Amino acid sequence: MNEVKPGTLYLVPTPIGNLADITERAVDVLRQADVIACEDTRHTRILLDHLGIGGHVVSYHEHNKKEAGPKLIAMLEEGKSVAQVSDAGMPVISDPGADLVRLALEASIPVVPLPGPNAALTALVASGLDARQFAFIGFLPKITAKRKKLLEDMSRVPVTLIFYEAPHRIKETMDTLITALGDRKAVTARELTKKFETFERGTLSSLRARMDEEDPRGEYVILVEGWNESMEEETEEASGWQDEAMKLAETMPLKEAARQTAGKYHLSRREVYQFLLGTRS
Ligand code: SAM
Repeated sequence: MNEVKPGTLYLVPTPIGNLADITERAVDVLRQADVIACEDTRHTRILLDHLGIGGHVVSYHEHNKKEAGPKLIAMLEEGKSVAQVSDAGMPVISDPGADLVRLALEASIPVVPLPGPNAALTALVASGLDARQFAFIGFLPKITAKRKKLLEDMSRVPVTLIFYEAPHRIKETMDTLITALGDRKAVTARELTKKFETFERGTLSSLRARMDEEDPRGEYVILVEGWNESMEEETEEASGWQDEAMKLAETMPLKEAARQTAGKYHLSRREVYQFLLGTRS
């Protein structure tokens, strides 16, 4: 049995789908912790019930962290052990937890991370893309200007880029990535560790086109090849299609200009159409 120390904050990863993906150590810590801080108490109860753990759960999430954080720190200072979990995967990674870690460190409370499930790394290792160096971006910012700036900064970073996205926004995000990064090699990893786990490999536009054939469902990680020098030429070619699309659009409806350009340059019609729409706004 891995013993839990008093007055210590444990970051405990939980399964991202398959309930068997929890480590013995994680179970030991959850079993012994005085308090389990979680995003959604009902959700975490399902996991705890599965593991046969009672546990005192308290909620700690984006919307109550200002009040809940200091309360948890007070408990830690009293000598209680706290296990922090999120709904799935590694706490802190695109999940609550970072603020609690900061508060704990400021109060000189020991923070002990446990290794375990994480969607980004699980997707990366089977993607076939370069895994020696990568940048984890997670969810793109919702604010357009911030999103644009981030992708501009990333567009010349020579390492694999990893994004998270919810199924209802994935088509729009794929369009954004095509426009910002060009039509690079990409992989989508869907429903990792679950029954319908699926990896699709291709280019951003080919993967995007498949999403029109079958509506995206489930959870996705998107991985995109990093920048390399040969993309300079492609960018020049890209500006070729953009010039041509804009010229055609002067004399015909946007949809027709997009259709003709997409056919000639083997691009997705939607990508060209979105580009033309952007030139009009
Ligand atoms: N903390 C988690 C981790 O360590 O991976 C991430 C939590 S974040 C709120 C949820 C996002 O992670 C989803 O929208 C999806 O992009 C990704 N994700 C989580 N579980 C996944 C799975 N089983 N398959 C694919 N992507 C997953």
